Amino acid sequence: MADDGSGRDSDAVHDLVVVGSGPAGLTAAVYASRANLRPVCIEGIGAGGQLMLTTDVENYPGFPQGILGPELMAHFRAQAERFGTVFVTEDATRVDLSERPFRTWVNERLFLSRALIVATGATPKMLGVPGEAEFLARGVSTCATCDGAFYRDVDLLVIGGGDSALEEALFLTRFASKVTVVHRRKELRASKIMQDRAFSNPKVEFLWDAIVDEVLGEQTVNAARVRNVITGAVDVVATGGIFVAIGHTPNSTLFTGQLEMDDQGYIGVATGSSATNVEGVFACGDVVDHVYRQAVTAAGTGCMASIDAERWLEASATSL
Ligand code: NAP
Repeated sequence: MADDGSGRDSDAVHDLVVVGSGPAGLTAAVYASRANLRPVCIEGIGAGGQLMLTTDVENYPGFPQGILGPELMAHFRAQAERFGTVFVTEDATRVDLSERPFRTWVNERLFLSRALIVATGATPKMLGVPGEAEFLARGVSTCATCDGAFYRDVDLLVIGGGDSALEEALFLTRFASKVTVVHRRKELRASKIMQDRAFSNPKVEFLWDAIVDEVLGEQTVNAARVRNVITGAVDVVATGGIFVAIGHTPNSTLFTGQLEMDDQGYIGVATGSSATNVEGVFACGDVVDHVYRQAVTAAGTGCMASIDAERWLEASATSL
């Protein structure tokens, strides 16, 4: 019988498959492996999630001196591996939740499982302009809560006009000398209350009808080329950092039509639980959460998903 890559034969029915390997997926894997479920974690080609694109993480409890994002994720992974999680370092390509056991494919390889945890995360939308990728984590950030404290007494740009952009801008005023919100239109999409707060904050300014065409810098970001979309005028605006806050895309397309989602694609779970609309399928982390989006909250919901899966497996053991 062929090996499915997990050390077990391809007809084996695993107790649990975890899809995703950010803080949510790996915490689920740590808990599930310690509960002897021998989970298979399909960690993806870009294993580790958004923290792999972060430098210093200062707000993950337990690391008083801070820790590098990739190093933190390596610790998570080693901990899951220590207790018996089997990793598959490829992307899950297809799932079928209509039959039991559930079926998850990695290209031609099929994994059968009684329970499934979805921890596929979300991807911050990026501008896609020159310099942006190059300076990511060196002056370009997608998370003010994570990185704001590194930008004391400098002028910052925040890109976007929604609630996230204004929330990030207001948060950054705690550190920055000035925060300029660059928005591509003249009207904000953000809620009235957030607009009122931003307009009344003396540290927040606005550049209307404007987009960033290029991120400029040397070792780190020092300016942005900003274009007025009405007049076409181009200006080089000096800045110590650029926070891109134009929304996130939940990584849930693999489950479209199989799991209930909201209109943005965030997977729905029962209040106070990780249970999706399909019994035995649990979801956690940023693919569920468009509010907190923190490593520690993702890890928390990953723990919930594992405990939920464990209890569900136990309760349904006789019927499977
Ligand atoms: P959003 O509401 O979709 O806003 C995205 C913003 O980015 C929009 O202003 C959009 O401009 C702009 N944008 C999109 N693509 C762009 C591009 N390529 N270049 C320049 N600008 C671009 O996303 P969000 O602010 O992340 O909010 C997502 C959801 O979470 C919303 O429902 C929001 O209310 C909620 N949320 C709530 C809170 C809160 O209540 N405290 C905080 C954060 C988020 P246009 O306006 O021109 O489309």
